[in-house]
Amino acid sequence: MAKLVYDFSEGGRDMKDLLGGKGANLAEMTGLGLPVPPGFIISTEACRAYLATGDVPPELAAEVDEHLAALEQGMGKRLGDPVDPLLVSVRSGAKFSMPGMMDTVLNIGLNDESVQGLAKQAGSERFAWDSYRRLLQMFGRTVLGVEGFEPVLEEVKRAKGTRNDLDLDEADLREVVGRFKALVQEHTGEPFPQDPRAQMDLATRAVFDSWNGERARLYRRQERIPADLGTAVNICSMVFGNLGMDSGTGVAFTRDPGSGAQGVYGDYLQNAQGEDVVAGIRNTIPLADLEGLDKASYAELMQTMRTLEEHYRDLCDIEFTVERGKLWMLQTRVGKRTAGAAFRIATQLVDEGLISEDEALDRVTGAQLARLMFPAFGADDDATKGQTLLGRGMGASPGAAVGKVVFDSATAVAWAARGEDVVLVRRETNPDDLAGMIAAQGVLTSRGGKTSHAAVVARGMGKTCVCGAEDLEVDLEARTVTSPDGTVVSEGDVLSIDGTSGAVFLGAVPVRPSPVVQYFEGELAPEQGDDLVRAVHRLIGHADDARRLGVRANADNTEDAERARRFGAAGIGLCRTEHMFLGERRQLVEDLVLADGPDAQGAALDALLPLQREDFAGILRAMDGLPVTVRLLDPPLHEFLPDLTDLSVELAVAEATGQQVEPKRHALLDAVRRLHESNPMIGLRGVRLGLVIPGLFGMQVRALAEAAAQLRSEGLDPRAEVMVPLVGAVQELEIVREEALRILAEVGVEALVGTMIEVPRAVLTAGQIAEAADFFSFGTNDLTQMSWGFSRDDVESSFFSRYLDLGIFGVSPFESIDREGVGRLVRLAVEEGRAARPGLKVGVCGEHGGDPDSVHFFHDAGLDYVSCSPFRVPVARLEAGRAAAAARSGETG
Ligand code: ADP
Ligand code: MG
Ligand code: MG
Repeated sequence: MAKLVYDFSEGGRDMKDLLGGKGANLAEMTGLGLPVPPGFIISTEACRAYLATGDVPPELAAEVDEHLAALEQGMGKRLGDPVDPLLVSVRSGAKFSMPGMMDTVLNIGLNDESVQGLAKQAGSERFAWDSYRRLLQMFGRTVLGVEGFEPVLEEVKRAKGTRNDLDLDEADLREVVGRFKALVQEHTGEPFPQDPRAQMDLATRAVFDSWNGERARLYRRQERIPADLGTAVNICSMVFGNLGMDSGTGVAFTRDPGSGAQGVYGDYLQNAQGEDVVAGIRNTIPLADLEGLDKASYAELMQTMRTLEEHYRDLCDIEFTVERGKLWMLQTRVGKRTAGAAFRIATQLVDEGLISEDEALDRVTGAQLARLMFPAFGADDDATKGQTLLGRGMGASPGAAVGKVVFDSATAVAWAARGEDVVLVRRETNPDDLAGMIAAQGVLTSRGGKTSHAAVVARGMGKTCVCGAEDLEVDLEARTVTSPDGTVVSEGDVLSIDGTSGAVFLGAVPVRPSPVVQYFEGELAPEQGDDLVRAVHRLIGHADDARRLGVRANADNTEDAERARRFGAAGIGLCRTEHMFLGERRQLVEDLVLADGPDAQGAALDALLPLQREDFAGILRAMDGLPVTVRLLDPPLHEFLPDLTDLSVELAVAEATGQQVEPKRHALLDAVRRLHESNPMIGLRGVRLGLVIPGLFGMQVRALAEAAAQLRSEGLDPRAEVMVPLVGAVQELEIVREEALRILAEVGVEALVGTMIEVPRAVLTAGQIAEAADFFSFGTNDLTQMSWGFSRDDVESSFFSRYLDLGIFGVSPFESIDREGVGRLVRLAVEEGRAARPGLKVGVCGEHGGDPDSVHFFHDAGLDYVSCSPFRVPVARLEAGRAAAAARSGETG
């Protein structure tokens, strides 16, 4: 086995896999010549061996001996020596910082004898006994699992009439130590281990074991941290912040992690050790006040912080201790920050000459940008304090929405039209609720998960949504929502929903709009905005310069198309046409389905044509000069017809009560029965529909061509593209293409005719299909569904959470593209399509087009563009730029 133990002077920041984050950075600081107390690191490899075999590897003890001996020699002290003891801390430290791992144990090496030596050396009995009681407390709790130390300490303080631990004197602390030892004896049946080396080894094992503790496992699963990394153990010689008022301990950031502002951010606590500063033991002082207490240490700390920022070229957070006027650095790492701070800091660092603009793109993410685009309730807790929480669902689409409760789409539209803010409340939503969802400030459902219709549609629109608030009872008849405690909310009452936390409040919680959205909307010029808006402006600008991928939008109405354009979309990659057949137009679809001959069918289509033409004209106008890809009708026809059960019941009731029914209703019932399918997603839909219903696709192509001709006559520059869905064989495409080209020629308009690639067979025959296609556009939702054999509408709520738990996938393949499986199909189709037709234009229009991770994949796979919902356009622009910048610096994968 390779070396298992490394001195702080041997490692560096890029050895996190082996030394953990804390160890690698301690080594880095040591290498920089910063004042780090000497020590060594037991590697993650030792931990992995321990976890695999249940015992530490046999060679570990000798290596630790060797490093300990060197440490002792350097320090001129021996671990736990009765006269002049060396003390150490044993600290966990995995590759990724992980709350839930074992807490650090300080002052290892103290026992009944060495405590006397420490007192003499330091000239303070109080200090030595304070250190010993801390060891007992930390070791007892985290290594031995003994509880009950706190109450003893509280009791001694109370007896003394104080709440401040500094008021305890040597005698009090001796008493505490005695009682702590008794506690250990009582709970473990054995005395507190007096052997210093045994203390160190037991603590090391406890750190290893904590890798598989319940909290750590839970955290890993949430954060998608692999379960097999293991943790390192840092053995670090002690320095003491509890040696008196000229000593202390603190934490600091090199910049404000909340806003990104430069300055001194931190807390300091005099005469204290370790976690005291964050544990709220006593009131800390602002770091700036350290200057007045100890000018030299403060100056050195500031200098050290500058050194670290220049070295890491990023915001760092640090932990330090002052021992009798001497500064010691105990930890640093590149610090976490809010989304806003990430953007501000990235541009600050560019201005300071520390990083390049390409690197700045690496310091922000699309997910952070998305977070900045949602309206929010004011600063978290303050804004919602004192509000009545009605219930909680899942935060399905972030943001904050306030409005009057409405229970159906029509009411939402009507009330919004007269200028009211409304929140649409449903048990669950369906495509007919779309108009109401658009009109509403937010959507609340009592059923369905994060992939329910409400959640998916709301996210796409950038609309706040809380779904699956199951403890709220939605009564659509009575038009009320009832909370578990019996509060009844009626239509027209005001609710506030938080799409991040899932909280539902009664009444209006104050909301502020996102300045970043105001900027993208063009309502706020960058010069008028604050530094956040200017930072977003600069980074998105650089991303646009860097990126190779085009970004288009999925939009099927004029409003969305206009917004997409303002948000920077270079066209429309997917204009769905199904929404254009809903609402009042259902009637015309019914006529089409019920038509008893070509004449009746033609009449129904003729009625639809001008409506479609108007739809297309609005969108082409909004996207003047840019491509608009119109997908011919995709979903099964019965989606436009009444539900089979509903209609059967309606007619049965009518018959039983002797009511008169239009004969057409009976014919409709027959049609619904005829069209009913048990697997509609793989039934009569997409291109199949176009081949079975003569004239349907032709009508759509004609409407598009006529709309384009009309705009051209107005002097505009419409660029229509026709896209055929669900093609699996080139013959299907050829038939539709031929008809489309004929109609385009008749109207005198040119347009590309291409196909979606969303059926596995289309991938496998991509070379043939490319012969008949001017472009490919991957429908990765269907492709995922058909590759895995998953029914998307069902599986996400039935077994996906089990699959995630089992690690079969780390994230839903509908959320981020499955690179190994579906991704391979994408690469194959690109390769064979372009081989058959060089320069074939290829895009993607599934929801993956707006997913940051997937955007990187599509960049790598050589696509020409991604298409996503309008609100995701800035995110995709940023991620496409990041992908290109990363590829340039050779950091891909
Ligand atoms: P965490 O991972 O929870 O931050 P650490 O290992 O950093 O745990 O330890 C917590 C605190 O304990 C440190 O911030 C520092 O104040 C203190 N500490 C750790 N090791 C030492 C040491 N060798 N000397 C003095 N204080 C230490
Ligand atoms: Mg720490
Ligand atoms: Mg599809």
